[in-house]
Amino acid sequence: MMLPFPRGRAQPQFSKNYPAVISTLGMVTKGRLWLEGEIPAGGPERTVVDRPFFWSGTIVTDSPGIEGFLLGKGEQKVTIRFIAEPNQLITLTNCSLELEGTGQIRFTAPSPRRELVGDEVFQAVETYFRHLQERVYKNIVVVFGAGASRDYFPTSEELLQKLLTYDGLRELVERFFLVKSDTPNQLWPTLSEVLGFIDIACEREEYLGKYFSVEKLRQIKTEVLDHLCQVFVDHSQKLNEANHYYALVSKLLKMVGNGNLGRVDFISLNYDNLLDHALKRVVGEKKINYCIEIKDWGRTGESPQPNGGYQITPKGQIRVVKFHGSIDWMCCPNCQSLYHVDTARGLSRAIKCHCDGTALKWFLYPPKREKYPMPEHNDVWSRLHSFADNLLREADKVIGYSLSEDDAYFRFRLKKNLHRENKPADIVVVDAPRGYEMGLTRVEKNHWHFLGPVDYRPVGFEEFAEEPY
Ligand SMILES: [Zn+2]
Repeated sequence: MMLPFPRGRAQPQFSKNYPAVISTLGMVTKGRLWLEGEIPAGGPERTVVDRPFFWSGTIVTDSPGIEGFLLGKGEQKVTIRFIAEPNQLITLTNCSLELEGTGQIRFTAPSPRRELVGDEVFQAVETYFRHLQERVYKNIVVVFGAGASRDYFPTSEELLQKLLTYDGLRELVERFFLVKSDTPNQLWPTLSEVLGFIDIACEREEYLGKYFSVEKLRQIKTEVLDHLCQVFVDHSQKLNEANHYYALVSKLLKMVGNGNLGRVDFISLNYDNLLDHALKRVVGEKKINYCIEIKDWGRTGESPQPNGGYQITPKGQIRVVKFHGSIDWMCCPNCQSLYHVDTARGLSRAIKCHCDGTALKWFLYPPKREKYPMPEHNDVWSRLHSFADNLLREADKVIGYSLSEDDAYFRFRLKKNLHRENKPADIVVVDAPRGYEMGLTRVEKNHWHFLGPVDYRPVGFEEFAEEPY
């Protein structure tokens, strides 16, 4: 491992102090930063660090309430970021903080990561820092990608293999995607890819090879969605209630209840209802607003009751946009009414629209890498997606977990709504834990190039949910 800035050698780019930001969700502290060995006479007192691979220094700040801020953090590690010449953004993660004196915070960090940035990005970072320093978060939007449910439900690759018991899909995968279903260790397409091909073919009225007519493909899709719901129902029964969603939702909403955050809303890119269950337990079903009119199709069984552990619940409703639909939603192909159904009941027999008696269809739309045709229920999807736009446009902080590059359409909406020159959103990207790397990881770079400056945290959902700051 190479130390990027060897100790004992002058580092010209650090020959003066820099504006620095200590960032956490709860509060951002700004100040001037001196690194070890470069603290000027008359500045903060110099101290010696005996661990050569650690960075340390002092931040001098006039942010009020810094003592309380530090006390509140306990042992929690924070991120310090600063911009340095020439055009570098330095990120020190996992910093330990201690109060050195009034307004003086001493930090120790394992090692830095730096990104050389062009002038435009440099400008964007400066603007971003300026806003961070003034910011009180009023609208937080949490976006859950597929990885958020990874510990509880099969992934898209695994789903495909589970669904191969169904003949139509197996035939399609073997004949058209040339995968032998009984041979392990092959490169499988994902279920989303397969469904994506089916949708494009159906929309264009084209066959997939000579064996798969549009009619046959529609039939395969219907059966696949039924099986998909069944897999989710089977897995849901094995779930216990203590999951990461519950931990995250209850912590964030408690902060809203205490007045420490403005409001928190959610966008889920997953079909499952782990988020719904968590919210029902924390604030009760009545507090959930799905941003679209949904009728109840005589659901049976008890909805989870709020557990009473969070008496301080947020005012108003929590908005939840299920961007790709939900395993317990069905839509009428005739009048476009959307229904909240009992998934198991929807699987066991055809259930019909209350208005016109038409058999309901599952309201699910898989993420796609390609273009995004929406042949069925187009109006309903458009309305749902415009609410996602609203949430993102209003957000001053967006926390994304496991945002997939495969979901081209959602990425488009995300970029479109977060691209703001004057009022940038603070973007936190939480990702599955990765091995420690000195520089920016490929994933982090992708996020950067896509969204601009992001606070990238490869700590995993579980850890983030415990301390969502
Ligand atoms: Zn109808």
